[in-house]
Amino acid sequence: MTEKTIPYKIYLEESEMPTAWYNLRADMINKPAPLLNPDTLKPMTAEDLAPVFCEELIKQELDDQTPYFEIPKEIHDFYKMYRPAPLVRAYCLEEKLQTPAKIYYKFEGNNTSGSHKLNSAIAQAYYAKKQGLKGVTTETGAGQWGTALSMACSYLGLDCKVFMVKCSYEQKPFRREVMRTYGASVTPSPSMETEVGRKILEKHPGTTGSLGCAISEAVEAATNLDGYRYVLGSVLNQVLLHQTIIGLETKAALDKYDIIPDIIIGCAGGGSNLGGLIAPFMREKIRGEKDYRIIAVEPASCPSLTRGTYAYDYCDTGMVCPLSKMYTLGSNYIPAANHAGGLRYHGMNPILSQLYHDGLMEAVSVKQTEVFAAAQEFARVEGILPAPESSHAIKVALDEAKKCKETGEAKTIVFGLTGTGYFDMYAYQKFNDGTLTDYIPTDEEIEKGLSGLPQIG
Ligand SMILES: *Cc1c(COP(=O)(O)O)cnc(C)c1O
Repeated sequence: MTEKTIPYKIYLEESEMPTAWYNLRADMINKPAPLLNPDTLKPMTAEDLAPVFCEELIKQELDDQTPYFEIPKEIHDFYKMYRPAPLVRAYCLEEKLQTPAKIYYKFEGNNTSGSHKLNSAIAQAYYAKKQGLKGVTTETGAGQWGTALSMACSYLGLDCKVFMVKCSYEQKPFRREVMRTYGASVTPSPSMETEVGRKILEKHPGTTGSLGCAISEAVEAATNLDGYRYVLGSVLNQVLLHQTIIGLETKAALDKYDIIPDIIIGCAGGGSNLGGLIAPFMREKIRGEKDYRIIAVEPASCPSLTRGTYAYDYCDTGMVCPLSKMYTLGSNYIPAANHAGGLRYHGMNPILSQLYHDGLMEAVSVKQTEVFAAAQEFARVEGILPAPESSHAIKVALDEAKKCKETGEAKTIVFGLTGTGYFDMYAYQKFNDGTLTDYIPTDEEIEKGLSGLPQIG
């Protein structure tokens, strides 16, 4: 098929949308290590998890054998409001760069939450509702997850309590108002509402918070309230499972035009969009059917894959969650306050951690000023104002496309454009004013975070 026959946007028909999520663990030869109960250090059972998580989601979390989970009709119908998402051929960007590379991006920003998070929010809210719960609690960092969850909860008539990392709560008042418009209650974290919040405030007065603290507060609130469970927007295997809708659609769109990517790039915070995007491609790679370069991009200020350690760690600062084996900077690691975007989590999803450990995936870290420069370059030719998180992937896609210009190779690059940046104008303003700075933790700071790791195995 010649290039000109490929449209700017490859859309799937509704009837071509995937009807099942794909569980990559089923095909992994080295399975991710199990979650451990922090008290007994034995693998977490469904029973152990039941006070915190919804039943159906626990099944998904613990299942590393079933390859496909059918998407319930109610969720599939909700997906149709904003999916299938387009796979865009970045002709304008290619032209501007004068690169022989062919660049595609999967755009997940076409919904009010402004990101891919809604794909999992609706699934998690649906299972909570089906279990007959009153509501859910959660944390949010940059705010996309809280927004997505409040949208899903209001659609299904569930109560939604959001603990929002304090620095985001202050920097992004409009995010907060979107959540409240959808009926959620929003509390800045750390707060005085929970025991763990009060403890953290006592130890670190004036702290601007972290995802790890907010998770602890949300878990405590869920376990103390009757008819509530805790839900999480990233990191967990169930979230990665729901996000495979991204990769399955991407693969279906590429297959329509017989396009085989050489390089697949995604930003990595807790790993859900990246894991979802790469899942069907990684399947082929693991089975030896195809070979792809797969690149995770993380911020230099929170470099869990590139500078962290592969070990069991707590998922949260308050150490109330299960222990998870992952690449981590330590649950006490709090990224520098000058860090503007999301992607602030200290650890990484266990599936991606195992894949990276097995050499099936690469990782690079990028500095935030170069990330915003890439965002600007992209916005000016492709039109979309990207989220700072997504712009980490843009930065590396641009680098790879520029390399192709030097070598003359016409590689096919696919990256995940996870969302839009309309609520990140404070950070864009700092970039435009030239006051945005880079912060790279010293080896001592990384050491300090890792010294707090629990001693297991
Ligand atoms: C939350 C978020 C991310 C990072 O989360 P992952 O779980 O790593 O995907 C990336 N981009 C956007 C727009 C987000 O909202």
